[in-house]
Amino acid sequence: MDPEPIRYYSTNHGVEPVTLREALLFGQAADRGLFMPERLPTLTAADLAGLASRTYPQVAFEVLRRFTAGMVDDACLEALCHDAYSYDVPLEKVAGGPTRLYLMRLDQGPTASFKDFAARMMARWMGHILAGDPQELVILTATSGDTGSAVAHAYYGVPGIRIVVLFPLEEVSNRQRKQMTTLGKNVTTHGVDGKFDDCQALVKRAFADPALSSIRLSSANSINIGRLLPQAVYYVYAYTRLARGGEPVVFSVPSGNFGDLMGSVLALRMGLPISRILIATNSNDEVPKFLETGRYDKIVPSRVCLSNAMNVGHPSNLARLVDVYGGQMDETGDLKRAPDLTAMRRDLWSVSIDDAQTRATIKQAYERHRVVLEPHGAVGLAGLWRYLEAHPDAARQLLVSVETAHPAKFPEEIQALLGLDPPVPPALAGLEDKPEHYDRLTTHYEPFRDLLLRDFGGR
Ligand SMILES: *Cc1c(COP(=O)(O)O)cnc(C)c1O
Repeated sequence: MDPEPIRYYSTNHGVEPVTLREALLFGQAADRGLFMPERLPTLTAADLAGLASRTYPQVAFEVLRRFTAGMVDDACLEALCHDAYSYDVPLEKVAGGPTRLYLMRLDQGPTASFKDFAARMMARWMGHILAGDPQELVILTATSGDTGSAVAHAYYGVPGIRIVVLFPLEEVSNRQRKQMTTLGKNVTTHGVDGKFDDCQALVKRAFADPALSSIRLSSANSINIGRLLPQAVYYVYAYTRLARGGEPVVFSVPSGNFGDLMGSVLALRMGLPISRILIATNSNDEVPKFLETGRYDKIVPSRVCLSNAMNVGHPSNLARLVDVYGGQMDETGDLKRAPDLTAMRRDLWSVSIDDAQTRATIKQAYERHRVVLEPHGAVGLAGLWRYLEAHPDAARQLLVSVETAHPAKFPEEIQALLGLDPPVPPALAGLEDKPEHYDRLTTHYEPFRDLLLRDFGGR
């Protein structure tokens, strides 16, 4: 029997709950809140045991069908999951440390970052619900490095959908930029003379601008609920591969906008036996401070660190995390109602890792464990080491640290630290020779609006 469709409410509680289809299309709620599921399906011990023998696409199907009922039928969802997840999800044992430490490598997709997992599923959901619709959909997305390419690749060539990517000119690596600017077709890219937060501010203003009402705008940023749900899947997958007899696991999640982290929190709230989720940030330490003190001060401008996809001074998914724990935070970071900090501290443990520690971890992981990390995954593993220093007993537990990108995306850093060139996966090969196309934008809103009207307004 099909479960009753779940509805999605806004974290600002200013609008009525909507269907998943609407939440996907709107991206953000009209009251500027973020959509959250009204209830969470549960994963029982029996469900989890049953998933242990399933492949990744099958696990994805079993987890996601509980959310998508009423939007996509099961046969179709299953086909979409197989189509989206056609690559490996390695769980690599880390030898020479705690006995049961694993690295979950989420870097085998077409753009070699974990963002492929969500972007590919969401693109397929959107393509499915828009099939046959005459009005073009324009997806605006701001990226600090990896979202843009994951989204652009996921939607590349999807009929009826256009993609507009804004990226901070000075904050993305050459390879990250080329992954977005060499596509063409339905993908246009704009380099902004500013920071990621400026890109995000431009996009947010466009969504709220009545002058753009003739354009059907949507987002694919981690604020879209479609970007969140698929990120619960790999936690379930890792658990069902590695855990013995219902034991709890510790996950360490390198975090910027907290989308990946929210995936783990959803999995926890669905019943996955997680004893602690470690939130590892770079020097943008607004959340570790918040968990410690209960006071939230966003960091403006965000600090520039090696793990550039995590240079976020005010994570857009924080409002969701606060919401899960009974609080309310608006989109500006204003705490309207305090969350249950005691419950948060029981489930979550947060630590900030600076660039020096990040580099030291890349070196140590290689020298002691023969593991090649890139800066984001190194923040995650460094966070886990710090947790074990503070909680020595946890070293006997099942521990999984998330590696969110492929080391070959950061060749200069890896070469400088380890003296080796990480082998380039096929997904990244050949980029150097492809021609790039992108415009430049300032941080002023009006030219951006005019450009959107010029390109998409008259349709
Ligand atoms: C985006 C990204 C992150 C941060 O993920 P959030 O969901 O924004 O917290 C971490 N690592 C890499 C490689 C990324 O691209």
